[in-house]
Amino acid sequence: MRCDSCSKLATERIPEEPGQVCLTHAIEFWAGFMAHARKERRAQKKLERLKERLSGVAQFPEQVR
Ligand SMILES: [Zn+2]
Repeated sequence: MRCDSCSKLATERIPEEPGQVCLTHAIEFWAGFMAHARKERRAQKKLERLKERLSGVAQFPEQVR
């Protein structure tokens, strides 16, 4: 499955359309989400984890909670 916003492989799940996006766009989504819900700790943790993965080279699929 491909990311809806670019042609990269969709490896991340987001709770909104299109549902499956690439790591970059997942970070973009959660960053935007955080702008609206700063108190959402779960989103903050998620965003931090994704950013760590982006700086690392971990491309293996990971269980998304
Ligand atoms: Zn993308």
